[in-house]
Amino acid sequence: MFTFSNIQQYHSDLKADKISCVNAVEFYFESINANDKLNAFVTLFYDEALYKAKQLDENRKNNQPLKKLHGVVIAIKDVICYKNHLVTAASNMLSSYISTYDASVVKFLLEEDAIIIGTCNCDEFAMGSSNENSVYGPTLNAKDQSKVSGGSSGGSAVAIQAKLCMISLGSDTGGSVRQPADFCGVIGLKPSYGTISRYGLIAYASSFDQIGIFGHTIQDVALVLEVISKKDDFDSTICSNEQLADISNRLVSSVKFRVGFFKQFIEHPSLDKEIASQIKNKLHQLKEMGHEIIELEFKYLDFLVPTYYILTAAEASSNLSRYDGIRFGHNANETTKNLDEFYKLNRTSGFGKEVKRRIMLGNFVLSSGYFDAYYTKAQKVRQLLIDETNNIFNQCDIILSPTSPTTAFSIGEKFKDPLSMYLADIFTVFANLTGTPAVAIPQFEHSNGLPFGVQLITKRNDELTLLQFSNILMQKN
Ligand code: GLN
Repeated sequence: MFTFSNIQQYHSDLKADKISCVNAVEFYFESINANDKLNAFVTLFYDEALYKAKQLDENRKNNQPLKKLHGVVIAIKDVICYKNHLVTAASNMLSSYISTYDASVVKFLLEEDAIIIGTCNCDEFAMGSSNENSVYGPTLNAKDQSKVSGGSSGGSAVAIQAKLCMISLGSDTGGSVRQPADFCGVIGLKPSYGTISRYGLIAYASSFDQIGIFGHTIQDVALVLEVISKKDDFDSTICSNEQLADISNRLVSSVKFRVGFFKQFIEHPSLDKEIASQIKNKLHQLKEMGHEIIELEFKYLDFLVPTYYILTAAEASSNLSRYDGIRFGHNANETTKNLDEFYKLNRTSGFGKEVKRRIMLGNFVLSSGYFDAYYTKAQKVRQLLIDETNNIFNQCDIILSPTSPTTAFSIGEKFKDPLSMYLADIFTVFANLTGTPAVAIPQFEHSNGLPFGVQLITKRNDELTLLQFSNILMQKN
């Protein structure tokens, strides 16, 4: 039977003719079918994945050298455009949208011979923390099906958790890769803002959005990062980072790092007691390993979630205005008296509740009477946070924190209470507000049986320290 441990091992098994890419693809489609109930996928590309696998098997027979992602079976979140394939953002608004172009990440993956097997379920337009806002219904947590998978990239996280692919991509605007990774016990990386091209990523809040990577090992995640973090003329926010070119070969480090933690995070009343105590144990253990542990003051914790929701709602209301049923989006196909009514009808029946809530909030904070009080103020707080972050990283190399205040909650538990759902993002939005890279590393099992881990953050464009330290934590585990 086919088993997967990491890409390096997979490639050496392929070279030794012990397995084939066809074996891998067939194995994953069987697993996906057997785990249909989890609702992790939206669309599957069975025929073309198998065709590509056969081609790659043939290439090896002809002694062609293996490219970096030769035969690596990958799933992508349903907000990443793939030419001639359905991309819906889990929304009725795009229920029949076939992409006319490839996102740059898709192009980069295919150039290195990856096999894309399907698109993953998520919250509508990537808005949510539980994957319950999807038009396809929630993705279930494979560890306990009464629990959420996390969101918004819940399907991508479960695709790794339940071994339905080797690597998956998500997007992270405020934690949507790290939080579901934490809930599902897998690795979830959000690189620095401007690392991975957003061309072809359906926009939620453009100054926050970053594509992120889920995987089983740090090496695999680093290898994919290497491939998809290329410069791209279609995204002017990409800044080149030389660290990334061969990062997967530089993960082993014997450096003793300066590990900071925010007292205010660890003592926050919303943080589950068991998570708090395990994080303290972890810091203690790291100290014994020779790393320096530094307690940091962070005065702005209470501002993080409000600032994040004001700015992202503002950007979302602007980004989503393009879905009017004419050029983009669902057309209700009903006769209307005028254009206003036409827009209203299409947008009312196209968008779900949470998306509408954010469009309204965004329009409110951008409206002339309130612009300065909310939007301008929030921008100032964001700058303050960026300045503070620079200070913090003079004192330490890495911040270690919880990823989420709790383990995966029950389906339905927070659905009717959006504010409590928003507050669950308290520890993850910091990295998006400041553009810093962050990763969720699985570490523990809670007494309730669910996984959780730690979040690591480094200064902007220091993915190398981030992944080297992640590697230490994964090995120690
Ligand atoms: N939970 C956050 C939100 O709803 C994060 C979403 C995301 O990162 N895409 O906005």
